[in-house]
Amino acid sequence: MRYSLLSLAANALRGHAGWRPAWRDAAPKAAYDAVVVGGGGHGLATAYYLARNHGLADVAVLEKGWIGSGNAGRNTTIIRSNYLLPGNSAFYELSMRLWEGLEADLNYNAMVSQRGVLNLFHSDAQRDAAVRRGNAMRLEGIDAELLSADEVRRALPFLNFDDARFPIRGGLRQRRGGTARHDAVVWGYARAASERGVDIVQNCEVTGILRDPAGAVAGVETSRGTIRAGKVGVAVAGHSSRVAAMAGLRLPIESHVLQAFVSEAIKPLLDTVVTFGAGHFYISQSDKGGLVFGGDIDGYNSYAQRGNLPTVEDVCEGGMALMPALGRVRVLRSWGGIMDMSMDGSPIIDATPVPGLFLNAGWCYGGFKATPASGHCFARLIATGTPEPAAAAYRLDRFLRGATIDEKGQGAQANLH
Ligand SMILES: Cc1cc2nc3c(=O)[nH]c(=O)nc-3n(C[C@H](O)[C@H](O)[C@H](O)COP(=O)(O)OP(=O)(O)OC[C@H]3O[C@@H](n4cnc5c(N)ncnc54)[C@H](O)[C@@H]3O)c2cc1C
Repeated sequence: MRYSLLSLAANALRGHAGWRPAWRDAAPKAAYDAVVVGGGGHGLATAYYLARNHGLADVAVLEKGWIGSGNAGRNTTIIRSNYLLPGNSAFYELSMRLWEGLEADLNYNAMVSQRGVLNLFHSDAQRDAAVRRGNAMRLEGIDAELLSADEVRRALPFLNFDDARFPIRGGLRQRRGGTARHDAVVWGYARAASERGVDIVQNCEVTGILRDPAGAVAGVETSRGTIRAGKVGVAVAGHSSRVAAMAGLRLPIESHVLQAFVSEAIKPLLDTVVTFGAGHFYISQSDKGGLVFGGDIDGYNSYAQRGNLPTVEDVCEGGMALMPALGRVRVLRSWGGIMDMSMDGSPIIDATPVPGLFLNAGWCYGGFKATPASGHCFARLIATGTPEPAAAAYRLDRFLRGATIDEKGQGAQANLH
């Protein structure tokens, strides 16, 4: 069913009784050409691009809960491509370009909103770093603008300029950055993949990885029985280490909790995404009116989808330092998701030493913006065995070779990326 103004009008006239479920909730078959483990944004996008770009539709996405129940449905929805390092910038810009055409491509309203992302800086050294990043972006053909403190003040007069412990000296803005509705991205990819024949299997936990006598992948054991497949793509974000361990692999990844918060709905106040440069805090306003904000990970390894109060306090302190008016709104909800923190802060999209087993992981807390490019590149790798040039740097063995892509320059400490 194609969504359009016409189909909306026709269904309205029929009392909205004609809508069909957006995707098939499939039962698993005994065998597929390829299986994707994980029904988050990345797994579903991978299945969609496998079918759309490579004609590989005998594919199942296996999700242990419901699609979008992981980080895909828990993130703060920020999209951007303001990266510094060569390995990252081409990949995230590919993602941005895919975001720009996504709704037409999927025939689904993902509420992609290019409202801009503004990274504030608070010192001369930070200004130098912002100029460097902006120049690197522009050399790659990515939009970047340096704003003075006065320009930031004109745009966002309610930030703390006058009695601030960390005075705002300006900001680096990417106008094409912004937000997208995370659930809609999941639903849009699920619908489009399902339409092309992909089976989306929920409540189906992968519990083991089957190998043939030569050691190659032969399928997966699941809570709904054995499923055979010659190719298995793993896109399970915070559970990457656990699923990889089923194939005897130890990954350079730690799992950490990241929390986020939303306030009660208020009138339109904030028309862009803002990040604080003197602490870990960022904020935007949802289309429903809630202020959506977050900060640092909780700093210890965990698989629990909830965090602790010290981090709540830390995030709120960052918010109050940047935007004192925030103290007047009530927090409506907070929640947590499990981040797959890699040792250099950059992802892995690669084949593994186990023939037929492919890995998509290490997204840290920036993987939502990567969803379209991640799916696009992972699909190509699974279908053809060769990496997409934009993702060519995301090799698993880069940690052995010392060829890390350390965007933040933090070294091999997962919780700092
Ligand atoms: C609070 C928070 C804020 C964030 N904010 C942003 C942001 O603003 N911008 C941004 O770019 N990124 C952000 N992120 C990061 C982003 O959400 C993730 O990097 C990204 O969603 C990860 O990819 P995914 O969508 O495929 O993961 P997920 O949605 O987590 O998908 C993985 C799926 O695998 C399933 N699974 C796990 N184990 C198994 C198994 N054994 N068998 C079957 N299924 C399994 C899980 O149930 C899950 O549904 C944020 C994350 C959090 C938690």
